[in-house]
Amino acid sequence: MNIGIVGLGLIGGSLGLDLRCYLSMVSALEKDSQPGRVLGVSRRQSTCDRAIAINAVDEASCSLSLMAKADIVFICTPLSAIIPTVEQLLEYLSPETILTDVGSVKTPMVEILSPLWPNFVGGHPMAGTADSGIEAAQLRLFQGRPYVITPTETTPPAAVQLVVAIANILKATVYQCSPVAHDRAVAWISHLPVMVSASLIAAATTEESQDIRDLACKLSSSGFRDTSRVGGGNPELGVMMAKYNRQAMLKSLSTYRQKLDQITAAIQQEDWETLEQYLTQTQQGRSMFNC
Ligand code: NAP
Repeated sequence: MNIGIVGLGLIGGSLGLDLRCYLSMVSALEKDSQPGRVLGVSRRQSTCDRAIAINAVDEASCSLSLMAKADIVFICTPLSAIIPTVEQLLEYLSPETILTDVGSVKTPMVEILSPLWPNFVGGHPMAGTADSGIEAAQLRLFQGRPYVITPTETTPPAAVQLVVAIANILKATVYQCSPVAHDRAVAWISHLPVMVSASLIAAATTEESQDIRDLACKLSSSGFRDTSRVGGGNPELGVMMAKYNRQAMLKSLSTYRQKLDQITAAIQQEDWETLEQYLTQTQQGRSMFNC
């Protein structure tokens, strides 16, 4: 089986590293069978060359025509490029080719791409780092992480099964839900944290005293590292989350603002009992999350 990846950045490159490793292992074990290959397409030739050099792909090109040889294609471009890329890609694919994406928002992708390509399966491997581009790609990025698949009533079961099988190769934990449910859920646990964390960094850098600012920078340790990580990531990704998941993000931000107001009021009123109750509830609430 040949696996195609379009968009060789953090996610596409990391997929390539794991899948190429797996296909090489399988072909070493099954000496007679035709070895499967990982084929990559990216915008820049330098990225294609680098993807080959780090063993993320067997072959790479800036031309989507390379995907004609793929049995399944993962679209791993930035969110804004997913739909235009698929529109240009379709002429090269045979009708049996399975198409999936890794976009962090699912409803617009699934609504537009499912009618264009019946063998389309929406997907979202939920792993990342603060870095982007092919240099950020890493082995086992998806291991132990959720891989959400968002099939619709019309998605062929065989297409879903293949995406699930590949997610299992990545050692990810597979979840299936509707695109709308996915977008509402990730607004709380992925998209809202980006904006909260970004606001934290923005607030901490407003300290007017240069000396205090310098001291705060030196003293910042695990607490600040954990809470600032997602706000210090790829800005393009954050903008895309807000743009494509706008309604769910606005709802989560508005609820977050109310929660912040409650904390602020308790501190203003020196209502330590209320603050403690609040923090006791959040301490208990955190254990509900699978992280
Ligand atoms: P990234 O590191 O910036 O990689 C995207 C790559 O796509 C770029 O390196 C670029 O390669 C290439 N590209 C851009 N436009 C293209 C086009 N029109 N055609 C072909 N290649 C193109 O971004 P990423 O973090 O991997 O994110 C990719 C996708 O994964 C997004 O849809 C995002 O929503 C999703 N995702 C991200 C995360 C995360 O935490 N980062 C997690 C899960 C899912 P060149 O160097 O060739 O320009």
